[in-house]
Amino acid sequence: MTTVTDFFGCNVFNETVMQARLPKSIFKSLKKTMAEGTALQPEVAEVVASAMKDWAIEKGATHYTHWFQPMTGITAEKHDAFIAPGADGKIILEFSGKELIKGEPDASSFPSGGLRATFEARGYTTWDPTSYAFVKDDSLYIPTAFCSYGGEVLDKKTPLLRSMETINVQALRILKLFGKEVTRVTTTVGPEQEYFLIDKAMYKERKDLILTGRTLFGAKPAKGQELDDHYFGNLRQRVSDYMKELDEELWKLGILAKTKHNEVAPAQHELAPIFGTTNIATDHNQLTMELMKKIADKHDLVCLLHEKPFAGVNGSGKHNNWSISTNTGENLLEPGKSPKDNTQFLLFLSAIIKAVDEYADLLRVSVASAGNDHRLGANEAPPAIVSMFLGDELTTILEAIEKGETAQATVKAFLETGVAALPKLRKDTTDRNRTSPFAFTGNKFEFRMLGSSVSIAGANIVLNTAVTEVLQEFADRLEKAAEFEKEVVAIVKETMANHKRIIFNGNNYSEEWVQEAARRGLNNLKTSVEALPKFASEKSVALFEKHGIFTKAEVEARCEIMLEGYAKTVNIEALTMLDMAKKEILPAVLKYNKEVFKTLKVKKELDLNISLEKEQAYAVKLSNLTESLMSKIDELDNILLETKNYDEIEELAKFFREYVFEAMQTLRVVADELETMVSAANWPFPTYVDLLFYV
Ligand code: ADP
Ligand code: MG
Repeated sequence: MTTVTDFFGCNVFNETVMQARLPKSIFKSLKKTMAEGTALQPEVAEVVASAMKDWAIEKGATHYTHWFQPMTGITAEKHDAFIAPGADGKIILEFSGKELIKGEPDASSFPSGGLRATFEARGYTTWDPTSYAFVKDDSLYIPTAFCSYGGEVLDKKTPLLRSMETINVQALRILKLFGKEVTRVTTTVGPEQEYFLIDKAMYKERKDLILTGRTLFGAKPAKGQELDDHYFGNLRQRVSDYMKELDEELWKLGILAKTKHNEVAPAQHELAPIFGTTNIATDHNQLTMELMKKIADKHDLVCLLHEKPFAGVNGSGKHNNWSISTNTGENLLEPGKSPKDNTQFLLFLSAIIKAVDEYADLLRVSVASAGNDHRLGANEAPPAIVSMFLGDELTTILEAIEKGETAQATVKAFLETGVAALPKLRKDTTDRNRTSPFAFTGNKFEFRMLGSSVSIAGANIVLNTAVTEVLQEFADRLEKAAEFEKEVVAIVKETMANHKRIIFNGNNYSEEWVQEAARRGLNNLKTSVEALPKFASEKSVALFEKHGIFTKAEVEARCEIMLEGYAKTVNIEALTMLDMAKKEILPAVLKYNKEVFKTLKVKKELDLNISLEKEQAYAVKLSNLTESLMSKIDELDNILLETKNYDEIEELAKFFREYVFEAMQTLRVVADELETMVSAANWPFPTYVDLLFYV
């Protein structure tokens, strides 16, 4: 029998394969590039390309592709066969170092936010040796970064790699002052991925799911998630089979899929991998999302990654567990046995506190999307207000330092189960706070505001860069300080004095917190449209330019792409709604009207001595709702026409949020009410019960 260890990573050109297939000196040089980010020599690329090609062909590959991550948020690929003409009408298989290092896809149809006119089509992809190449569907996939002919960044990977590089430089300066012999610092991420699975046949009957990924209509079912019987519940056989295959395929690609379980909403599930470097975690998360969809199809299921596929039950997010590690194996966010004496930990913690407070708006922007607007602040996901949970122990320590007192040592308590036979467990330093957007969870931070469908690159670029900015400031101070230890304490103290407003350990879902946050001066950017323009603020541009992540033009381009994305998404949703309302719901409703009124008419004509009071009222109600449906359709139609009056993208996005989105909501209310009246036989597509409780 083959076991997991036999096939784990079998489709990856990983270090074991490299070591076995590359000459020693080449392997060493490539490893150095991977570990330290040093430039790659062309001779090395030549040898690596040849070894990669032979290996891939043995795995059945006929093609290779530069795999990149344009600003659509998903991945892109264009495949070229290895073939080249040989002698006597035969072919040879070729793959050069140049082809490995550089690709030239036509870039004109990817969003660039005006960075590049469509006639300037040239774009380049360059190999990212820090993420392994792999074979999938008979192609050799080479992870690459993507930029334009003029060098403007057009993707999500390049800025992510840059942000990892700058945080490395600044963190090393600080670690050096602590006397650490470290040569590389890397940010690590473990993204927990939530998703829904539904039946394929039913999916096909719903245009909204097909075109927008979410239901635009649907009355509340009799049962939702109120019994909490789905969370961690046992798996449906179909789902269990799906998860098994998904795990196996992910493992073959070297993805450390670790945890799987049912989530809170019916038909909702989660997969969590073991964390890796931010870059690899990002690539792997993209692959995970892709395979989740592909494998679902094989099981006659459809995987929905939208943030809010169903109203009335929880939507899906992605928890971005984030930390910083050294190449000596130290996790910089590990408080150790005695956090109060761990000044290095307290300093890094302070840097994060300050960074999150100073750049809260940017963190909010990094998770903004039309889909995520349905979750944030809806009592199922953190609110749109960014704050941090540190737990009592750390907060107490930091408060004591702020006051100049000595912090008391805390003794870790044992968990009291009251059953002698059960093993004694030490309690964790912090309980969980599920409601916090940015929670310290023992040795990492969990940024919980991300939507389920987004690339995690955006959030991590912001997080890394903001923390870099503060680390740099701290390093500047500490390098000049006469007394190092004293200066560290002074920094922690100042950070608490100036930034403790960002720390909140209570219930983030409560109305009191919304008010308290306002008193503290924390922003509550409820919608994407309010949040996104902050990305192009002076402060944001200054931050990104200073650390070489984006130029001003690139920031502005990205801001435009995000606002445009919002407007386009709502536009597609509105058009889909109108289509369904006019061609499916209204005809069904009219048909049902006919049945009801016909019956009423017949009864009236018989002129029996029976009461028709209720029946008549029912018919009137149905007719009124039908009339209302028609007028809501007209309203949405007319409002959509008005969008033509806006050229400026921020204004347009605002109009979509304030008018189009609102008109969609009112249309939905009427249609959903009709769904509760019209006979099941007449309703034109599967309902929430059908979709959420399939077998
Ligand atoms: P939870 O109880 O929230 O599921 P886990 O401890 O299981 O917490 O971890 C959740 C995720 O956090 C996993 O993907 C895990 O690999 C990741 N994680 C753990 N340690 C780190 C770290 N140091 N850096 C980044 N992610 C981490
Ligand atoms: Mg978690």
